[in-house]
Amino acid sequence: MSSKRLKTVAVHAGSRLADSKSQPLVPAIHMSTVGWFDSSEDLDGALDGKDYVYSRISAQNTALLEEAVAALEGAEACVSYASGMAALRAVFEAQNLQRGDRVVMPGDGYGVTRALYKALCARMGVELHALSLSEAQAPGRIMELRPKFVLAESITNPLLSVPDIRALAQACEKVGAALAVDATFPSPYGQRALSLGAHYAVQSATKWLNGHSDALVGTVSASRERLAPLRSMRLLAGDVLGPFEAWLTLRGLRTLPVRMKAHCEHAAHVARRLAESPLLERVYYPGLPSHPDHAVAQAVLEGGFGPMVAFEIKGADRAESFRVLEALRLARPGPSLGDVCTLVMHAASASARRLTPEERAAAGIRESLIRVSVGLEDPDDIVEDLLGAVERRGAP
Ligand SMILES: *Cc1c(COP(=O)(O)O)cnc(C)c1O
Repeated sequence: MSSKRLKTVAVHAGSRLADSKSQPLVPAIHMSTVGWFDSSEDLDGALDGKDYVYSRISAQNTALLEEAVAALEGAEACVSYASGMAALRAVFEAQNLQRGDRVVMPGDGYGVTRALYKALCARMGVELHALSLSEAQAPGRIMELRPKFVLAESITNPLLSVPDIRALAQACEKVGAALAVDATFPSPYGQRALSLGAHYAVQSATKWLNGHSDALVGTVSASRERLAPLRSMRLLAGDVLGPFEAWLTLRGLRTLPVRMKAHCEHAAHVARRLAESPLLERVYYPGLPSHPDHAVAQAVLEGGFGPMVAFEIKGADRAESFRVLEALRLARPGPSLGDVCTLVMHAASASARRLTPEERAAAGIRESLIRVSVGLEDPDDIVEDLLGAVERRGAP
């Protein structure tokens, strides 16, 4: 399957349960937590992972989803979790960090991940360094710091900067650091982080892989060897994905490449038109030649420049930004991304909420910053809705 092209992989991967002759075109949803066996020998083998016996150990729907995500990521295997955050925590904990070890993560990334890693590092006596990984000196900083673990985000949230994953991977290789990439924003359609040298590709599959905002799902894809400790810890800790969530996400990812192609094309169109508007201070989109990471983005992203756009409203404070969200008539003001419908968010109060005001200022996240997950509506309708809302914000 891995030699097939991405669209084909998306439609067919994870569609066949091993050791059964009957193959439903759509997989059944296996809600049973327990499998029982006529033969005690088979039951005994199942407890060693040879069959499905208890759904904290392994389950049919999660196995199919994991097979499909691994194929999309170009990975040997995948381990799924009950949320993207659970996946990010699992990767962190698999590093066996000791007091005094160093961890590097993006200073301008997802605020919840920052807060989680801060809490974990503080508890363990691990040094956490939040860097701007898209700056040219980032690989050099990694070599100076000699961290054991580095987390990068393919496209940062919410400012959409794009680090050079290949250069970060080379720096990690030199100092023996493990590199995980949270590739939620481009999804495997836009970046296969493992092919750029990362050791783990993490997804909040809640977003583009699922694509329809109806399940919380996290995945970590990597080599079988790197995933072995994650798999055994998940069996003990129990942060597993439920069968229905796995089923919905498998159904959603069947259309990932065709959805993402359209989302990325729409985002490019929306960014171009917003960039022409005198109502906006600035537009952030890696596909614009004015974006500082445009050249890197061309090298590390595929199939476009991602489905996300952000902009600053000229002279707006928090209250005015809130009024813009309330003035939308088509797009939904919702603090997520990855839906077929356009979702608009005030970054400082939502995805960056868990950052301190100082951390937000250092990351460059202003009160006038709005992030858009560009949907499948007609892109001109999206632009008109966004600009109309900016224009109407003063009106009662
Ligand atoms: C949403 C998100 C997460 C967290 O995923 P959940 O599924 O909500 O737990 C992590 N990283 C990024 C980039 C995200 O957008």
